[in-house]
Amino acid sequence: MPTYSRLPVTFTQGEGVWLWDDQNNRYLDAISGIAVCNLGHCHPAVTQAICQQASQLVHTSNLYQIQRQEELGDALVEASGMDKVFFCNSGTEANEAAIKLARLYGHKKGIALPTIVVMENSFHGRTMAALTATGNEKIKEGFGPMLEGFLRVPYNDINAAEQAFANNPNIVAVLVEPVQGEGGVLPADPAWCQRLRDLCQTQDALMMIDEVQTGMGRTGKLFAFQHHQFLPDVVTLAKGLGNGMPIGAMMTRGKAAEVFAPGNHGTTFGGNPLACAAGLAVLNTLRQHPEHITNATELGNFMRAEFIRRLANLNGIKVIRGLGLMIGIQLDRPCAELVKRALEKHHLLINVTRGDTVRLLPPLVMTQDDAELIVSGVCDVIREFLNTNA
Ligand SMILES: *Cc1c(COP(=O)(O)O)cnc(C)c1O
Repeated sequence: MPTYSRLPVTFTQGEGVWLWDDQNNRYLDAISGIAVCNLGHCHPAVTQAICQQASQLVHTSNLYQIQRQEELGDALVEASGMDKVFFCNSGTEANEAAIKLARLYGHKKGIALPTIVVMENSFHGRTMAALTATGNEKIKEGFGPMLEGFLRVPYNDINAAEQAFANNPNIVAVLVEPVQGEGGVLPADPAWCQRLRDLCQTQDALMMIDEVQTGMGRTGKLFAFQHHQFLPDVVTLAKGLGNGMPIGAMMTRGKAAEVFAPGNHGTTFGGNPLACAAGLAVLNTLRQHPEHITNATELGNFMRAEFIRRLANLNGIKVIRGLGLMIGIQLDRPCAELVKRALEKHHLLINVTRGDTVRLLPPLVMTQDDAELIVSGVCDVIREFLNTNA
């Protein structure tokens, strides 16, 4: 179905930061399948784990104990400080699980119309509850009615959050991205995050962090909430967790870990041995090679500094921002065509989000040379674009 306007290129092979098309042309991937292949394409440890598991056991059911699922659950709990994990197949499903959990949490306290605080400009996925939570009117258009029980406030606005809590005793949770990815690579203000945590604590609401895009080392910590001084109650993961194998997860802690009982939620595929073997390989690789996560901080800072040095004084550049290897370059005009220009002229894969922001999410395993190639290619296409579209 034409749900995507696809670029005219077919990739048939990948290795690390590189992709090859069906004509054997080589491309540098600076988007990682949208923050999925954080360890690069076909990372040997992940490939080996998938092949090994595929030859041993692919699927049984959550009706039975699943060894790989327990191992991945334990590893995630140990790495995050959370208590329990529910596995699913995607980011939107992880957020659906979190939204259902928050509602049940409220009902168990006697709140008949539980309300979840969500942000303007947010993205949480395409299924109905996650779509309702999303703050992008364009992708919701035509799919109403949305669900009840959501209250939207501006991102990074302490006053608005305080007002929302003061006026609404039905708030059971806050759902927030630590860096808004689809929304244009906007990092959360640490003071605002801490205030949200405190407000949740005071009103016995759940602090739910959507780490679908920011998780698995992307921002220079294994999880982006680890940039802050608190633990959330709920964390959702997907994208980078399987390095390309479809897998999502909802991690819970404390009172949030005690909400779901048998029968409350379920999934046929979620947490199957194959997906969990891939997740385990990703997590083990990141723990055995902390340099990949350090790389996210160092090369991210290097690239942002280079972009500022080379682009910031140009007419047409609004802001250069990000965290770790999430980089956003916002222009003062629509610039979606940059994607095609970078692909054709430099064989470079980039992304434009919200229509006016170049978004880069390169693999964490890239080298300084790769980073320099990306910077020079992106600067070149932006400069040319601004000159011909003045
Ligand atoms: C991509 C994304 C989702 C949706 O994940 P899918 O796997 O596409 O369903 C949810 N939240 C955030 C922050 C995302 O970036």
